[in-house]
Amino acid sequence: MRKRKGGGVGETAGAARTLADMRWAARGRITIPTGCAAWPIEAAAVRRGGRRERRPFFRVPRLKGAVRSRYNRDDRAGAFAGGAAIGACRKAGKAAEAGGSSVTARRQAALRGTGQSKRANPKAKRGIIGMTVLIGAVEAGGTKFVCGIGNENGDILERVSFPTEAPDATLKRTIDFFRGRRVAAIGIGSFGPIDVNPDSPTYGHVTTTPKPGWNGFDFLGAMKREIPVPYGWDTDVNAAVLGEARWGAASGLKNCLYYTIGTGVGVGVLAEGRLVHGLVHPEGGHVPVRRHPKDAFEGNCPYHGGDCLEGMAAGPALEKRWGVKAHLLPPDHRAWEIEAHYLAEAIAAAVLLLSPQKVILGGGVMKQAHLFPMIRKRVQRLLNGYVQSAAITERIDDYIVPPGLGDNAGLAGALALGIGALEARGV
Ligand SMILES: [Zn+2]
Repeated sequence: MRKRKGGGVGETAGAARTLADMRWAARGRITIPTGCAAWPIEAAAVRRGGRRERRPFFRVPRLKGAVRSRYNRDDRAGAFAGGAAIGACRKAGKAAEAGGSSVTARRQAALRGTGQSKRANPKAKRGIIGMTVLIGAVEAGGTKFVCGIGNENGDILERVSFPTEAPDATLKRTIDFFRGRRVAAIGIGSFGPIDVNPDSPTYGHVTTTPKPGWNGFDFLGAMKREIPVPYGWDTDVNAAVLGEARWGAASGLKNCLYYTIGTGVGVGVLAEGRLVHGLVHPEGGHVPVRRHPKDAFEGNCPYHGGDCLEGMAAGPALEKRWGVKAHLLPPDHRAWEIEAHYLAEAIAAAVLLLSPQKVILGGGVMKQAHLFPMIRKRVQRLLNGYVQSAAITERIDDYIVPPGLGDNAGLAGALALGIGALEARGV
């Protein structure tokens, strides 16, 4: 480790070189200094062993006080982008923070709307402030919108929420939130159904929702006109499954499902690391389920009555069936046995069809934690040992789980969509 004099441009980033590496580092909750070699800016030549080679490394701007990592000179360490490299960054961070140039300090200064960092760094205009990329996130729910600003590590730095009203009024509040906040991209996880086919003329529209004013509304187009940045656009549940796979309960997994059981039932599907769309997008809330033998409820789905999961198991179905809101039903009420039956029916079918590595259950109804063991038991019983995986036969407590990100799953997922939009642009 030796200090580099003055500012200017450093030589190489032999440590963590990509945004993915940075996220890996962030899981250790390490503050990485602005001057650290880990921040990728542009490809440059690297000096190695006295010989210059063209390599896809990155040249980084350095700040006074930052320390040059010895890993700059050893691309073997960089290839791992592992603990040793991050350790070097951490040491550099202490020096940089002593000089007041940490990412956190600069980010906070930038968020205050003052601070030298924005003036000094023209990238601030694109939301890249002090080497921290600020990304907007919109969790567009049917009853509530949540807007936030976050970073590439999944940290939510700022958030607001407001009721979902008519499209114009709701979008105005959303746009007002982001205006002037200099985000580099925005991710939107929206209630649906929505058009997620980029080749469709109605891409970005809300489609057949009964919600007044929203049917056919060009949600994405309205956002793009006012805040022209790259956008990630998907269903709220696809966003949530993506967020959980990046930072939550399914961290590092490529195949998982996210159910939300609330005012409706939706399912996000990640398969082989990609969000599933296909014909439209998965509508796992409306899969047929076998009726519970002691349940005479007529159902609550306008399309399928009592023949689908949402019609029998969403919050409004519970309320209609039992005459009280779901959260007022005591844990030993037989309502929960019936609820667990329907959810297990759908989950067992999904396990057989998609072979997920994790099934995450979120939404208001799943705040009833006592539902989890009931659902797990029924799923095991339905599968009856046929799916030969210890995840189901022995470790089902870790297989069917609540969201690791808790109530942030939706917003963090939207953030992940925004990061994806940025990565698609090669930033
Ligand atoms: Zn239905």
